Amino acid sequence: MSIISDFNEKEKGKVLENLTCNVEQIQDDLLKEILTLNAETEYLQNFLHGSSAKELFKKKLPIVTYEDVKPYIDRVVNGEPTNIISAIPITNFFLSSGTSGGANKMIPSNNKYLEGYAFINDIIMHVINKHAKAVEKGKGMLFFLTYLESKAPCGLPIAAATSWYLKSDYFKNRSSNWYYTYSSPDEVMLGSDTKQNLYCHLLCGLVQRDEVVRIGSIFASGLVRAIKVLEDSWKELCSNIQSGSLSEWITDSGCRNSVFMVLGGQPRPELSDKIETICSQKSWKGILTILWPQVKYIDAILTGSMAKYVPTLKYYCSDLPLVSTLYASSETIFGLNIDPLCKPEDISYTLMPNLSYFEFIPMEGDNGDVLDLEDVKLGCSYQLLVTNLWGLYRMRIGDVVEVTGFHNKAPQFRFVRREKVVLSIDTDKTNEEDLFKAVNRANLVLDSSDLMLVDFTSYADISSSPGHYVVYWEVKAKNEDSKGLNFNEKTFLECCSAMEDSLDEEYKYGRCHGSIGPLEIGVVNDGTFDALMDLSTSKAQYKTPTCITSEKALQVLETNVVARFSNALSESHVA
Ligand code: AMP
Repeated sequence: MSIISDFNEKEKGKVLENLTCNVEQIQDDLLKEILTLNAETEYLQNFLHGSSAKELFKKKLPIVTYEDVKPYIDRVVNGEPTNIISAIPITNFFLSSGTSGGANKMIPSNNKYLEGYAFINDIIMHVINKHAKAVEKGKGMLFFLTYLESKAPCGLPIAAATSWYLKSDYFKNRSSNWYYTYSSPDEVMLGSDTKQNLYCHLLCGLVQRDEVVRIGSIFASGLVRAIKVLEDSWKELCSNIQSGSLSEWITDSGCRNSVFMVLGGQPRPELSDKIETICSQKSWKGILTILWPQVKYIDAILTGSMAKYVPTLKYYCSDLPLVSTLYASSETIFGLNIDPLCKPEDISYTLMPNLSYFEFIPMEGDNGDVLDLEDVKLGCSYQLLVTNLWGLYRMRIGDVVEVTGFHNKAPQFRFVRREKVVLSIDTDKTNEEDLFKAVNRANLVLDSSDLMLVDFTSYADISSSPGHYVVYWEVKAKNEDSKGLNFNEKTFLECCSAMEDSLDEEYKYGRCHGSIGPLEIGVVNDGTFDALMDLSTSKAQYKTPTCITSEKALQVLETNVVARFSNALSESHVA
């Protein structure tokens, strides 16, 4: 992978053309490099006995899930040499969404991943430069955030992939061109308190409102959250702008000092008045385009579980292009959207053949075929496998993608779904198993009362920010003779806590940092789940869905809610 940040636009264009024209050769070379380099690792030795031949790789190396390779990864996590899986030393672990045996997935990584991240950012900005007008003269207000890292028993750091990149030298020493020019100082991105960071991001962006040409965050959920902070704090932001000083509650010294430099101690009463007038309007439709009049596009991942935020963003951003550029995971970077101004429903990603070796299991037909990147067919859907340079071989990512077209020889993919995920608000991905476990935990609490759970389903409610999980419960009295149901608030709040305690680290992270609101139990009338079944066209095979996706079904549930319980509501209310 070449470092291309010093290339001019023409040279970057050539790199992209070369990558998309020579997919097969580049993938074969990369696989050869991976197998040769790692031939002596314990993992590959077990199956390939030192060979780096592609045919043997395809024949002998098993297709695995995280569970399968967890024993190898755990040994590295616990301090054994990293060459069990990777010849290039593992330097850190990414905390990936999803659980394995109740614990979070720890994905091994090293600088090769960061190199890929830096590379893809350069290519993305090159593509943006080609499509968007007059973006090179301004700054990006990007709500980048980092989260605290922890340490594995072996002493290596554990962090989220994006945090790791922002804290790395690749970001620190990034090129000084407009691609990476932001309205916020780095210290605001690197601070450890999300609330303070978001406030400071907004303050810096508002002070430089005429220079901001793009607004975004990694995921759409992050941007919606920043808009909520703006809604809640605009009066205070205006007061800070008016006086040229920063609110006392911003105590993070990095944020404080760096934002102080942006404010320069200079009172800006006119600017403050202008912002106040804009924010006092009754309707906030298109507010981002009014507050930041030079903004040319919105930048955030909008596909998969983030698609639900598109209507909200359209409301606040009017007709600004919503641009979703990157497709990546803790295991690898996949690729980018080379048609960035397309409509949200048309977003596809072109996989870059130099980042990892990709394979595809067709969703239809089960003849055991595993295809290479150059062999996938238009209109077909596949499960994605990754072999990377840092210790993962033929690993199922859990994503289903569909081929929508080609750029040169490189296929473009629509993200179809993440397998098994039922609930997601931010970067959390709760699967069916996690949800069942959580409900079972809560059921133990309910068992101590005179009620029993009849049925349940769930919904990711994003109608307010931050969004939260709603779990609809139908309950009945254990004792048939008892008259009327008695909802003991304490019991139900304990049930909420039991469910939240049972969910994975990514969920808890979101809760702790405020990107996910408290889980709610909505108790529904007796017979509501029968009414849900009546909506189904195939009643004979009907199974209560673990998660509700249809508007109609949601309406049935909502109109039947008789009590709501959540640790957010100071008093949960019984209708
Ligand atoms: P994690 O490893 O926790 O960062 O999660 C990675 C997963 O997030 C991917 O495997 C996808 O399921 C999802 N994801 C990442 N980027 C996108 C995208 N552009 N569109 C849809 N889903 C995405």
